[in-house]
Parts: sequence; C-alpha cells; structure tokens
Amino acid sequence: MSSSTDFVLAVEDLTVSFDGFKAIDSLNLYVDKNELRVIIGPNGAGKTTLLDLICGKTRASEGSIKFKNEEMTVLPEFARVRRGIGRKFQTPSIYENLSVFQNLEVSFPRGRSVVGAMFFKCTDDVKERVDGVAREIGLIEMLGMEAGLLSHGQKQWLEIGMLLMQEPELLMLDEPIAGMSVRERELTAELLKRISNNRSVIVIEHDMEFVKKIAHKVTVMHQGKILAEGSMDKVQNDPAVIEVYLGH
Ligand code: ADP
Ligand code: MG
Repeated sequence: MSSSTDFVLAVEDLTVSFDGFKAIDSLNLYVDKNELRVIIGPNGAGKTTLLDLICGKTRASEGSIKFKNEEMTVLPEFARVRRGIGRKFQTPSIYENLSVFQNLEVSFPRGRSVVGAMFFKCTDDVKERVDGVAREIGLIEMLGMEAGLLSHGQKQWLEIGMLLMQEPELLMLDEPIAGMSVRERELTAELLKRISNNRSVIVIEHDMEFVKKIAHKVTVMHQGKILAEGSMDKVQNDPAVIEVYLGH
C-alpha cells in the first residue's frame, strides 16, 4: 500500500463521516499523469466532498490521498496548493472590479508574505505567464476589460486561468459548464482538452454530451463509493449504473 506509483493521484480507503454518515466510504481512485477524468453520479453521491478532501477543504476521517507519491491528508489546504493541486469551486471567485489582466496577475504565486505581495513588481516573467494563460483561456483580446463585464462563460474561463497561473499539476473543476451557452460549452470542452495535454484534470459534470466529448475515463459515484469506472461506453451500459440513474 505504501509503495511508490506512477499515478499523479492515488486515493486509497478514503472515508469521511459527518455525524456518523459516511459521505465518502472506503473509496479508491487512481488518476494518471495528463489524464482527464470525469466523475459523474446522482446528487448526494459525494462528488463535491471527494474534491473537498483532495484539496484539503475537508479533513479525511480515514484513508490516504497521495499526490505524486506524497501523503496529502496531513497537509493543510495552502500546502496542497503549493504542491500543485488546484481547485475550482462552483461559484466563480474573480475580482469583478479588476481587469482580466490584473485578475491573472494577482494569481501569480509569489509566496504568502503580505509584504512580498505589496512590493511585488509586475515583471516580464509575470507578463509572459499572463499572456500565455490568457491565450489558453481565449481571453487574450480582453486583458484590459473589467472582469465584471465578461459573460458568465468568460468569467468561468478567467477563474480557470487564475488557477493555471499557479501551474497546477492536478486541476479539479466542479460542474464548470453550469449556466453556459451551447457555444461556451463547446469552447470549454476544447479548453479542458488542451489543459489536460500537460496536467491531470478531474471534472465533475452532469451533462453527458459534454462528458462524452472530454472524458478519457469516467468514474461513477454512488453513496460515497465507486459504482463503475472505465470508458464512457462501458459505464453507460453497466446495469448497476443504469439502475441508479433510472431509480432517480
Ligand atoms: P454531490 O456533490 O455528489 O452531489 P456532496 O459531496 O455534496 O454530493 O454530498 C454528499 C453527501 O454528504 C450529501 O448527503 C451531503 O448532504 C453530505 N454532506 C456534504 N458535506 C457535508 C457537511 N459538511 N456536513 C454534513 N453533511 C455533508
Ligand atoms: Mg456537488
């Protein structure tokens, strides 16, 4: 169990109880380098809780979360961010009054000292990173625009960009296309595929058309456990999965 692996993320026997209720129940999950994994499952299955445990927002009751073979369960959230775990929450948390450029700029990692951040100068390194990220998220033409004026989808991309500024090796997104237009969904699918060219990505999503487009592998969760895992075709035809979805 304690052996070293090639997985970016290895979750083993993970359990979390809320007042005796196991929201995550002895769960195992392995994610490869540069893999784009989609997690699906009915409401209350424990999907968001699983991401909370991986990023350190919630503490595990039992089990192990290894990121690049290092145990994460003992580390606080900020230390996991520094190791390379990025997490996008459902509600975007951009600075509406700042420009797109400034939103990306303030997300450049520069240590946690307040003084360091205050005297921080916008160097060429940072500008280069901002440009690269803005290009990747399709907002290069909008660097000067106030973030509050962006469309809903563009705000979501900006938040993804703010995470990319930290160059995470694992990026986790919870229902990223909720509220997006059809076109924005298409562009987001392309964006996520691009992003996973050189990092691992975990996406929670309901929209099956979207899942089909992006997933390398799909994990189906139910009642805090994994019900099925594999290709989209495989899990869609799995009788246990069909039953859970029809039962709802
Ligand atoms: P999903 O994202 O798959 O819809 P969640 O992870 O949000 O599911 O929730 C899984 C279960 O855990 C739900 O029954 C939810 O009510 C419960 N739960 C989640 N967080 C807490 C918490 N902080 N305290 C108590 N119960 C929680
Ligand atoms: Mg959820």
